[in-house]
Amino acid sequence: MANLWTEPADVALRAGGVRVADLDTSSTPGFTGGKRAGKDLLAERATVLSVLQEKLFAHGRTGGHLNVLLILQGMDTAGKGGIVRHVIGSVDPQGVDHASFGVPTELEKQHDFLWRISKRLPAHGQIGVFDRSQYEDVLVVRVHNLVPQAEWEQRYDQINAFEKELAETGTVIVKVAMFVSLEEQKIRLRERLERPDKYWKFNPADITERAYWPQYQQAYQAVLDRTNTDYAPWYVLPSDHKWYARLAVTELLIGALAGLNLDWPPANFDIAEQLRRLDQS
Ligand code: AMP
Ligand code: MG
Repeated sequence: MANLWTEPADVALRAGGVRVADLDTSSTPGFTGGKRAGKDLLAERATVLSVLQEKLFAHGRTGGHLNVLLILQGMDTAGKGGIVRHVIGSVDPQGVDHASFGVPTELEKQHDFLWRISKRLPAHGQIGVFDRSQYEDVLVVRVHNLVPQAEWEQRYDQINAFEKELAETGTVIVKVAMFVSLEEQKIRLRERLERPDKYWKFNPADITERAYWPQYQQAYQAVLDRTNTDYAPWYVLPSDHKWYARLAVTELLIGALAGLNLDWPPANFDIAEQLRRLDQS
């Protein structure tokens, strides 16, 4: 297939100077094709992703210490679940560790905000996927002042320090902030009210949160401004087009995995000898 990317997804989407309030959520940065071409390409690239993931898994199984952590952040209906199903769903489930973070439990509330996060970090050779993350503690928490400002203000630096250590110990961190427009969210919420197969996703509180849209945009802006680091970069993903979001995250993961330069682990046995034994068995 012709190359429909004018620049790699990790370049086209890398945060840096992006104004959340001005983002065109229906754009498809770096990609010149439309829905049909995007879907075809996704199918093709899913195979590439799957092979790279298997190499990471094999690496972990043979004593390697590397892993990948994909962090998905976004307002309700932004499409986080779709990424999990359609992107992560194309790789071997035994190499994926999925965690979602909702309202903290009573137990979690008795610990530092990073406690529950630390417990769900991926093992060696795994792709960890966070559906929401430590960033909720500077997003919903900030918007609703669930802790005093003096406390959430410190969290940006705490998150950076946390992620730096993770990166230094072998985790490739890929942070994706998914954005849909307020209108697109309305369409998607309406769908959840009109389709029996989607009722289960609906939460009345999601409508309440729409009134805080500007505050959320501000909170997301602060996240991008303060936690977009070389060791844990943010990618800003316009997500009105689901096919684009899925293709772009596939490319980001391919880039992260390819950057590890992993090869198949060498045989730790004498191949000729084992073939001889097999023949004789
Ligand atoms: P969902 O992802 O749709 O299942 O919703 C999870 C909900 O949990 C969202 O409304 C989040 O904002 C909320 N949530 C996640 N983390 C926190 C947190 N640390 N404090 C308060 N609410 C949170
Ligand atoms: Mg929800």
